[in-house]
Amino acid sequence: MNIGKLLTKSARTFPKNLAMAYGSRELTYAEFNVRVNRLANGLRRLGVQQGDNVAVLMYNCPEMLEAMFACFKAGCGTIPINFRLHPREFAFIINHSEARVAIISSEFNEAIIDIRNDLKQVSHIITLSEARSPLLDYEGVLSGEVDQFEDADVAPDDVAWLFYTSGTTGQPKGAMLTHRNLLGMTMNFYADMCPGFGPNDVALHAAPLSHGSGCYALPNIGKAAANVILEAKSFAPEQVLKTIEAYRVTNMFAAPTMIKLLVDSPAIDRYDHSSLKALNYGGAPMLVDDLIQAMEKLGPCLVQLYGQAESPMTITYLSHDDHRLHGDPDQMKRLGSAGIPRTNVEMKIVGADDNELPPGEIGEIVTRSDLVMKGYWRDPEATAETLRNGWLHTGDMGYIDESGYLFLMDRSKDLIISGGENVYPREIEEVIVQHPVVREVAVIGVPDPVWGESIKAVVSLVPERTVTEAELIDFCTNHIARYKRPKSIDFVEELPKNNYGKILKRELRTKYWEGKASQVI
Ligand code: AMP
Repeated sequence: MNIGKLLTKSARTFPKNLAMAYGSRELTYAEFNVRVNRLANGLRRLGVQQGDNVAVLMYNCPEMLEAMFACFKAGCGTIPINFRLHPREFAFIINHSEARVAIISSEFNEAIIDIRNDLKQVSHIITLSEARSPLLDYEGVLSGEVDQFEDADVAPDDVAWLFYTSGTTGQPKGAMLTHRNLLGMTMNFYADMCPGFGPNDVALHAAPLSHGSGCYALPNIGKAAANVILEAKSFAPEQVLKTIEAYRVTNMFAAPTMIKLLVDSPAIDRYDHSSLKALNYGGAPMLVDDLIQAMEKLGPCLVQLYGQAESPMTITYLSHDDHRLHGDPDQMKRLGSAGIPRTNVEMKIVGADDNELPPGEIGEIVTRSDLVMKGYWRDPEATAETLRNGWLHTGDMGYIDESGYLFLMDRSKDLIISGGENVYPREIEEVIVQHPVVREVAVIGVPDPVWGESIKAVVSLVPERTVTEAELIDFCTNHIARYKRPKSIDFVEELPKNNYGKILKRELRTKYWEGKASQVI
C-alpha cells in the first residue's frame, strides 16, 4: 500500500476531524488532503516523476507534513532535513540524495540562495513565503492545481523516505525507508506503543518532524487523529505543558532530554497533563534516576522505544506496564532496559563473527523485520556491511536477560578501553546522575599515556549548586568497581546536543583527542 493512502482514507471517512493545529490555524482532514493533493499535482507539473526525490527543509509546521504526504502520494522519496544542520550539510544531503525539488520554509531562503549554484540537480526550489527569483511560492504552486490526485501505484519496496542519519558520526547516510517499512512502523505503533489509538486521539509534535515526531505523524494520520504542531523552534517546557492542557493531548514523542526539561520545569505542577496516555521517549539513553522522577511527575504514560533511522523507531519497547515505581527487584532492574522486541520484529545479540550470544553476554544488537531499511542510498559498501547475513547490524552494544529484555550498553564507538578493560560509559553515567547536584553527565574516554584511555566525566550541575571533582569521584567509588571510576571530571554549563536531543559525545571527545590520530571520533 502507498503510505500516502493513510491520509486519503482518513480524509474520506473523517473529513471533518481536526488534522492539523498550528498557532491559530486549523485544518480538517478534508482540507489537509486537498492541499496535499494540490501540492502533489504541482510537483508533477514541475516535472517531478514517480521515483524522484524531493528535499524538505522546514521548521515544524503543517506544510512539512503536507510536503511529505504529497511525496508519498506521488510515489516520490521525501527527504526531511534536520533544520539545525549547517548550510554545507543541507547542500551535501540535497546533492547526495539527487533531489529534483526542494521545499523550504522562508527562514532558509537566504541560506539556500547562497548555495543555489552548488545544487546542480535541483530544478525548482519552493518556499513557504516571500518568494523571489529563483524561488517559487508554495501557495502559488498549490493554487493553480485541482483538488484530486490519484495516489501513485507503488511497489512495497519503493523508497518513500530517505532518512539521513543524525550524523553523530561521520557524514550522514541516507537510510532508504520503503512504503513497506513505514507501514510496518505504523502498524507497530498501534500494536505496542499506543494500543487503542483512534480518531479521538490528539498528538503533540514538540520534537522535530524530520525525525521521530515525523515518523509518529504517520500513525496519527492513519487514524484521523489530531496533530498539534508547536510554533516554537526549540523545546519550551511551559508551552508544551500549556498545549497538552489546552488540547487534551493524548500522545507525543520526546527525546529523554526533553522529558528532563519538562520534569525539571516548575510549570509541570501548574498544568493538567492527565490526558497523556502515551509519552513515547527514546532515541538516546534515559538514565534510571531521571526516568523515576519522570514517572513520579508524569504518571503512568511513559513508553520507551529503541530504534534507529535504519529500522525506524522500532526495534524494542519498554511498555506502560513495565514502568513500575514500586515493582519487585527484577521489575525495577528493567527500568534500566530498553524492553523487549516489538511484536513484528526479531532481535538478537551477536559476537564478532555474527554468532548468537546467550543471555547475559554483551555483543552487537542485530534485527530483522519488515521495518529494516532497504539499504543506504548510493552506498552499496555501507549497505553490505550493515545488512550482513540478512540482519541489520545496529552498531549498538547490549545484552538480553533471561526474559528477553534488552539492556543497551553504548554504541560500540563509545566504549572505553582502559588498560585492556572494557568500560561502558552508561554504567558510570547511571551512577553519577544519582548525585543530587548533577543535572547531566556524559562519560568519555580521553588519551592516557599509561592506560591508552582513561575515563572522564563531563558534568553540568543544578544551578547554584556545587560539588568538587574529588567528591564526585568518591561518590562513584561507593557504587562501582574502582577501575570504572572517572579519573577526572570536567564541569560545563551545558553538554553539546544535536537537534534531536542526543548528547554529542564525538564533539566532547574532539577537544581531548585533537592531534591524537589513534582514536576514532
Ligand atoms: P537515529 O538513527 O538518529 O534515530 O539514532 C539511533 C540511535 O540512538 C540508536 O542506534 C541508539 O544508539 C540510540 N537510541 C535509540 N533509542 C534509544 C534508547 N531507547 N536508549 C538508548 N539509546 C537509544
